Amino acid sequence: MATLYLIGDPVAHSLSPAMQNAAFAALGLPHRYELLRTPAAGLGDAVARVRGDDVLGANVTIPHKERIGRLLDAVEETARRVGAVNTLFKAPAALQAPAALQTPGALRGDDTDVGGFADALLERGVDLPGRRVLVLGAGGAARACVDHLVRSGAAVTVANRTATRAADLGPVERTAWPVRALDRYEVVVNATSLGLGGEDPLAGVDLQRRLTVVDVVATAQETPLLARARAAGCTTVDGLIMLLHQGARSLRLWTGLEAPLAAMRAALPRRI
Ligand code: NDP
Repeated sequence: MATLYLIGDPVAHSLSPAMQNAAFAALGLPHRYELLRTPAAGLGDAVARVRGDDVLGANVTIPHKERIGRLLDAVEETARRVGAVNTLFKAPAALQAPAALQTPGALRGDDTDVGGFADALLERGVDLPGRRVLVLGAGGAARACVDHLVRSGAAVTVANRTATRAADLGPVERTAWPVRALDRYEVVVNATSLGLGGEDPLAGVDLQRRLTVVDVVATAQETPLLARARAAGCTTVDGLIMLLHQGARSLRLWTGLEAPLAAMRAALPRRI
């Protein structure tokens, strides 16, 4: 049996343990996915723990995604591009990695949020080339979304409360926070943490039926933004779908196995 950890603070609200433990059960593996609440001062100790032989890997969440890379032996290209790591693993997954880094046990980092976001949009049939997309937020999740959107040929605009934080987001336009109207956009992505506590990042802004509304916030209760978008007849992409697919990609890095998506989906608190 091996352990996997979720390293972050807070972590108590996370839906990942139920989803990943359902995956291990479906695969017939005895592994356990556990929460490892880690304040900033404890990050080094948490990484040392993941290096132990009885640990297969970890997920990383707020507030460590941007800091943990420098404590690892190698960081995959996607994570380097985005500047954030959400998965620690030990298998020599990257064929392009220098031989020296393929040492068994070397601790590597990748960012499966990018692929999870891409898979979620694909699952919901959201077409991106040439689309005008507004991304709310400029943290780790927003960086993952922007990376995929730009590489897919979307025309991306970013709005963030702290304007300076959106300064190095690559080839995107910027607009003021809070956003008052969505006329210029076809797709809107909430990549802020607003929604976790029942807030609506677009409160008071009209959602027209023609819009696609993506919310990365993954909560047991549907977020107010998504509920409003669904009621307005918009195409919606729930944060739970992104959670599912980023988790499936992490599981593949840890085990080398195809993730049992149906079992993982069934372990989530709502039908998606
Ligand atoms: P960060 O802490 O890196 O970024 C948080 C973002 O939210 C920043 O843009 C911040 O703005 C904004 N924000 C926070 N509070 C407010 C507020 N009161 N008003 C306006 N803006 C606010 O977090 P992450 O990017 O890592 O995560 C963001 C969300 O995405 C979380 O809810 C996380 O759980 C979720 N997530 C979901 C995933 C999934 O698989 N579904 C994967 C990854 C993340 P500012 O810069 O001004 O502080």
